[in-house]
Amino acid sequence: MANLRFKAVEEASKKKAVVVAKPTSRPSEFYAKYVFDRAKMFKYLPADVYAKLVDVMDNGAALDRSIADEVAKGMKLWAMDMGVTHYTHWFQPLTEGTAEKHDAFVEHDGKGGMLEKFSGKLLAQQEPDASSFPSGGIRNTFEARGYSAWDPTSPVFIIDDTLCIPTVFISYTGEALDYKAPLKKALHAVNVAATAVCNYFDPNVTKVVSNLGWEQEYFLVDEALYAARPDLMLTGRTLMGHDSAKNQQMDDHYFGTIPERVQAFMKDLEIQALELGIPCKTRHNEVAPNQFELAPIFEETNLAVDHNMLMMSIMKRVARKHGFRCLLHEKPFKGINGSGKHNNWSLSTDTGILLHAPGKTALDNLRFVTFTVETLKAVYDHNGLLKASIMSATNAHRLGANEAPPAIISSFLGKSVTDLIEHVEKADTDDILQVAGKTALKLDLPSIPELLIDNTDRNRTSPFAFTGNRFEFRAVGSEANCASAMLTLNTAVAEALAEFKVRVDALIEKGESKEAAILKVVREDIKYIKPIIFNGNGYGDEWKEEAKKRGLDCETSAPIIFDNYTSDSSVKMFESQNVMTKFELEARNEIKWETYTKKIQIESRIFGDLCLNHIIPVVTKYQSMLIDNVHKVHAIFSGEKAHQISKENMHIIEKISDHESFIIENVDKMVEARKVANKIESEREKAIAYHDTVAPLLEEIRYHVDKLECIVDDEAWPLPKYRELLFIR
Ligand code: ADP
Ligand code: MG
Repeated sequence: MANLRFKAVEEASKKKAVVVAKPTSRPSEFYAKYVFDRAKMFKYLPADVYAKLVDVMDNGAALDRSIADEVAKGMKLWAMDMGVTHYTHWFQPLTEGTAEKHDAFVEHDGKGGMLEKFSGKLLAQQEPDASSFPSGGIRNTFEARGYSAWDPTSPVFIIDDTLCIPTVFISYTGEALDYKAPLKKALHAVNVAATAVCNYFDPNVTKVVSNLGWEQEYFLVDEALYAARPDLMLTGRTLMGHDSAKNQQMDDHYFGTIPERVQAFMKDLEIQALELGIPCKTRHNEVAPNQFELAPIFEETNLAVDHNMLMMSIMKRVARKHGFRCLLHEKPFKGINGSGKHNNWSLSTDTGILLHAPGKTALDNLRFVTFTVETLKAVYDHNGLLKASIMSATNAHRLGANEAPPAIISSFLGKSVTDLIEHVEKADTDDILQVAGKTALKLDLPSIPELLIDNTDRNRTSPFAFTGNRFEFRAVGSEANCASAMLTLNTAVAEALAEFKVRVDALIEKGESKEAAILKVVREDIKYIKPIIFNGNGYGDEWKEEAKKRGLDCETSAPIIFDNYTSDSSVKMFESQNVMTKFELEARNEIKWETYTKKIQIESRIFGDLCLNHIIPVVTKYQSMLIDNVHKVHAIFSGEKAHQISKENMHIIEKISDHESFIIENVDKMVEARKVANKIESEREKAIAYHDTVAPLLEEIRYHVDKLECIVDDEAWPLPKYRELLFIR
């Protein structure tokens, strides 16, 4: 039998780095080459249309439909200058990727010929036949009425011959069927709430923007080896595979020299990303072998999310050009680190970043404390929901493993900020608040040394860490759409700030000075948020105990964690901030449960097939060879001597039998568990059944397969081993 594994290993080892042509100009010159950015808008649009569009983009002004035709005309001209023939509405349905349906610009000209046409109507709205996208029952399949609507705040871009128009995706009755629609509402909510609070400190602030800087981790695997691993191909992760003798224990991969083939891939990727306006900045090896990271400079959250979605699809495409497959799964390999996507989040005004560590004036300091504390209040009040926002069947493997904190949301502040907040809490009010006139405020706060701001005492084990001028939400999964976490976080912060304002205003109404009122509410909240602050080691078991005592959400079952979306406090939060209705939340949960079930179902099926069709036959054959050997030994030796010689092989034969029977019995059991689960009507209950009865068997059976991998003749083992998959030559 030809062993695919060896062919693949041989093929992979022969590959050379793909030569990437050096760009002929500097990055600053080819940056955003394929984006209809402001410079191009200015060139291709009439002046008044340009001004109106910028107003929509910058100030959220309502889109004047009358300009849509002019904008479409300008876009079409630019696109045709770039050799583009098609356009598509590009949207983010509730699956993992993005969706697009291409239409050509061509129309009959009425004289038997063709002309290129693209109108404002086609730009602004489309009705993709949306019946196959998940809707959680909002839209009956036979109706198939969902439409996509242009998001003018995210610029259109070109991929190959197609003009891509970022859009929201909404049901005919107005409910969101995507991530972008609620994200945009959340960003609006946080803008309104944060601007109002900013105005206590500076009446000139007119707008607050939410920023996101994501750090994308990923693995690369040689394509030939990938093709010899059906589990990797179908599920994005290896469902079996014994540890490699060497993996990450030497710590020699992190920040190590980037292999040549990978370097070429990165270079190619960065050029393409820069051309699409994604401001790539950082690249390096990650902790695990074959694991890497890429991070652009942070951007406004809606744009940053689009750029991440775009980046993930470019990564996959460019990887193939270089003979790799890019793995975005959170845990492609057991026993080594998985991949996350840290979401660096902050708010900023037209005048600067709001979460910047203490400034020069007392008022600046109070503002910093206010925004930090209210962010923590949001995270505390909705810690279960935030966990739900990052939870998936795939990310569940990473949380609580060796490289990531457990499935408990807490926040690390570092010593400086913790001291600062404690100071505000404990200091004598009169000491802090010296009211001279009514406005002068003396806030004698300890300052944060500059060095610490840049290099905050990093605690890598915290899911939500303060890092100098931002919070880093680290629990987000590498495969996820950041919008899920970002819309939840921004809505929660919007709610906390809106309530903060109501409370402060009530005190002012009673005659308190503005400063005293703010201070009073902030101090109340400092006391309240204590349980969410955890500066210790998030990996330790003691923390799980402690977190439980503090009343934080410690649930670990993904399907049950999703319940957080429809809890009273979540519904109140989303509805009060006009982000999502209870109906939408319920529909989205149906999709989450369904997706969860399908993922485990696919894993379980392919795993069962691999066990029965790949592993057991090979193992049985090897065992027969041993049995044959034992027979022959007994044929040429006699009695005690024969027994002595064949003792070891007898032992292996028995071990193989034990593992084999466990595997066969439990694959059967797993099939039965699926059958039982499949009969359950409720998506929630079904997902729970898959979590409780199917998923654990995958792990239990795997243990025995991995043992067999170490016993059976290496020549016969059919699947590329970890040591082969994980080291790019
Ligand atoms: P780390 O040391 O955390 O790995 P990186 O340089 O890899 O840092 O990534 C940090 C990310 O955080 C980058 O995308 C960076 O632009 C972003 N970032 C920096 N400051 C802010 C901020 N104030 N708000 C949001 N993101 C920020
Ligand atoms: Mg980071």
